[in-house]
Amino acid sequence: MKIIALAGGVGGAKLAHGLAQIILPENLTIIVNTGDDFEHLGLSISPDLDTVCYTLAGLENPLTGWGRLDESWQVFDNVAMLGGPDWFRLGDRDLGTHLERTRRLRNGDSLSQITNDFCKAWGVGHSILPMTDDSLHTIVNTEGQGELSFQEYFVHQGCEPTVTGFRFEGAENALPAPGVIEAIANADAVVFCPSNPWVSIDPILAVAGIKSACKSKPIIAVSPIIGGKALKGPAAKMYLELGIQPSVLAIAEHYQEILSGLVFDQIDAETEPAIKALGLKTFVTDTIMQDAKGRYRLAKDVLDFVNIIF
Ligand code: GDP
Ligand code: CA
Repeated sequence: MKIIALAGGVGGAKLAHGLAQIILPENLTIIVNTGDDFEHLGLSISPDLDTVCYTLAGLENPLTGWGRLDESWQVFDNVAMLGGPDWFRLGDRDLGTHLERTRRLRNGDSLSQITNDFCKAWGVGHSILPMTDDSLHTIVNTEGQGELSFQEYFVHQGCEPTVTGFRFEGAENALPAPGVIEAIANADAVVFCPSNPWVSIDPILAVAGIKSACKSKPIIAVSPIIGGKALKGPAAKMYLELGIQPSVLAIAEHYQEILSGLVFDQIDAETEPAIKALGLKTFVTDTIMQDAKGRYRLAKDVLDFVNIIF
């Protein structure tokens, strides 16, 4: 069975890693959000792509949830000491990735080519594709401050501003990266990882052609909301600020138009009839991925669910 996984950063990377423990490289393609990408200190940063690649390579930093294992901070300590911007920290090892990516982008190589080469160097066999090689920037509309770039909202202001909406700048001109549409067309099912729907999955679906390609396949999502809360990050806060009660039902309704089934946590088991009433198949399990075993377990559940219902 061929599977496509759509992923943002942390939540996406964890399930993608679980799936990669089970599915052969030729049968799994992970399509990653690049709406968070930005330039910092002259370097091209792709936070979600790096999180997914580092996680599959076993190089991720479990303490921060981003960046690399065994990291040191000498370069950034010096930047800060010199009065440079230090609100977005990059570790010494991680900086090597950004330096080399930036050099190659300036040479005219595409983000997808570069990612493919980096994955080879890191020993990652599964295909990890950026959603697009073009620029698409997530813009967060806020109360009081108007439009903020994603990293200004997310990191610099620590998700404090009240959100009123989102816009994906460049979406009208962004093409899917080479291989994205083909991989979806050849897949048996699409899995939306438990990533932030607003700022991780929606930007991927905003790239022309990706949503319609997915629509022709069974799509199952894993809820990032557990017991009305996000395990990490602003997903629940965003739903509340947009006037929607954060819940498994909200996730189901978010994707309802294109979704076939939803995997959600046992803590939310009483929601099952409401999800079924939307016409969705359901799978209730422990969806918290504490460690590599937990990732494997949830990935196995997701694949069993795909097998049972399709
Ligand atoms: P980001 O790009 O790093 O913000 O990460 P994602 O968008 O991929 O993931 C963020 C979401 O992952 C949050 O809404 C979390 O609730 C969710 N998440 C993180 N860990 C887990 C987990 O173990 N299980 C589930 N179901 N969701 C998780
Ligand atoms: Ca992200």
